[in-house]
Amino acid sequence: MRRRANLRALLPALLLLTGAAPPSPAFDLVALGVNGGIEEPTSAYHITARGARSGVMCDAGTLAAGIDQAQRRGGYPRAASRQEVMASISAYLITHAHLDHVAGLVLASPNDTKKDIMALAPVNQALADHYFNWSAWPNMGDRGAAPRLARYHYRDLEPGGPPTLIAGTAISVTAYRLSHAGSPSTAFLLQSGSDALLCLGDTGPDAVEGSTHLNDLWRAVAPLVQQGRLRGILIEASYPDPVPDNQLYGHLTPSWLGKELQALRGMVGNDARMKALPILVTHIKPSEAPPSNRETVSRQLHDLGFFNFIIMEQGRPYAL
Ligand SMILES: [Zn+2]
Repeated sequence: MRRRANLRALLPALLLLTGAAPPSPAFDLVALGVNGGIEEPTSAYHITARGARSGVMCDAGTLAAGIDQAQRRGGYPRAASRQEVMASISAYLITHAHLDHVAGLVLASPNDTKKDIMALAPVNQALADHYFNWSAWPNMGDRGAAPRLARYHYRDLEPGGPPTLIAGTAISVTAYRLSHAGSPSTAFLLQSGSDALLCLGDTGPDAVEGSTHLNDLWRAVAPLVQQGRLRGILIEASYPDPVPDNQLYGHLTPSWLGKELQALRGMVGNDARMKALPILVTHIKPSEAPPSNRETVSRQLHDLGFFNFIIMEQGRPYAL
């Protein structure tokens, strides 16, 4: 009797050691906006280290409308007002300055609390030059046209590190460059304790962009996948196949996403780890007519096989 009881007590630990059971979640993510292009709400992901009060936004294409929708769809388990959710955001990580990634931040700024905007230097500069400039919108930042209302403090991140602690959270961030039709975009590697999560902005494939940015990113995160520490990759698949390379405009299709992930898989060299890694697919551009691009992209990714693709849904929570 006693031996059986001891075995039962040991079972969870044994499962963890053999890799049979998934580890308990390290991050909570609420998808406030998952669309690319014309249909709102657009790209915005609210990420919190499990158990923490404050988290970050990876992009803010939508904010107030996305929070309201997520509350209706059960994205936030505890009943919290929009203001409370807004106040629980410690910083905005902005991948690039295109409107579908920043519109929510700009529109909500008069009702927002003081926060950092963390981005690569050219992205922060674009926000200061083109939005918070008293022409497009009052200057809510602490750079550019006077008077500077300084609700937002721009923090420029060095590409490739070192990790920067996000004030008010237990998360540190490293920014990696991406190429989006030749203009700068960013991947953010978030780390909390020994766990990590990767959030990519818009990106074209290296082969089409004439870049090595994705390859460099894969090389940087491959050890985290090998060690089972990377909890997920948020990455775009904007259009269904086929799209001629000269009409990708700095985006991925399912076949290009598959090729890029095969490059990562080769570096990881551990198919069990790679297969288990959640690939959270974002930024699908809505179609003008049926069938929906969501359905087509979803089917095409499924047909690729091997990878653990999850098509992200508006307003839903994800435990990663
Ligand atoms: Zn976009």
